[in-house]
Amino acid sequence: MLHPLSRRKAEVLTVLNSVSQEDHLKLKQLGAADNKFWSTDDEAHAPLVAAFRTEVKDYYWGRQARRCCYCSKELDESKAAYDAEHIIHKDEFPQFMFELANLSVACRTCNGVKKNKLVLALNVTLAEVPRQSSDYTIVHPHLDEWSDHFRHDEISRIVPANESMKGAKTIEVCGIHYLNAARLADYFLPADHKTVQQALEGLFRVKSRGWKIKYLEVLNGLVDEHNFQPAREILGALKDEV
Ligand SMILES: [Zn+2]
Repeated sequence: MLHPLSRRKAEVLTVLNSVSQEDHLKLKQLGAADNKFWSTDDEAHAPLVAAFRTEVKDYYWGRQARRCCYCSKELDESKAAYDAEHIIHKDEFPQFMFELANLSVACRTCNGVKKNKLVLALNVTLAEVPRQSSDYTIVHPHLDEWSDHFRHDEISRIVPANESMKGAKTIEVCGIHYLNAARLADYFLPADHKTVQQALEGLFRVKSRGWKIKYLEVLNGLVDEHNFQPAREILGALKDEV
């Protein structure tokens, strides 16, 4: 039986059902004039923003195979559990706040870590939402196929596929290290989970070999203490990389 194991490249939503074209245009204008407008509590506009957000989240949740556009983690159906994601962030580029081509759905971690980091290539023209994959430094929800840029390695971490620069950049920008660390920490003793997760996250994030060795020593100590075979195997694979 076939199961999609990663998010799909989503076609851009083109026709809104819950918001008229006229209201959509109004939202774009109001957003462009106020980069905080997405969270407006203004009684006249908040219901319209909520209707827009709900439809966008519904649509991209289904089109992305119910997965985060960056880390591909499955997203619970409850809309409270995931975010509408502005691919080009709205703080500096509020003109794209309500552009359907600039929206997707992401997990809370990826959205929170990515925040307002720049994802545009140099010299991109911004008259409208850029529509070429090469306009972006990260793996784009609508322009790039996840599996072209990422793979799961032999210890089930998400790593760049085919030495993809975009894959590596997305892991850094969205903090996919956190997810990799949390998953691998499951192979250690539950009581050590938090310490292990922090050490693994540090190991994946830092560039310096000296620091990587320090994090490995923390993990080594925990494995030696409990002589826990699954953790020992994970640690062996990680040591080979440093
Ligand atoms: Zn994610």
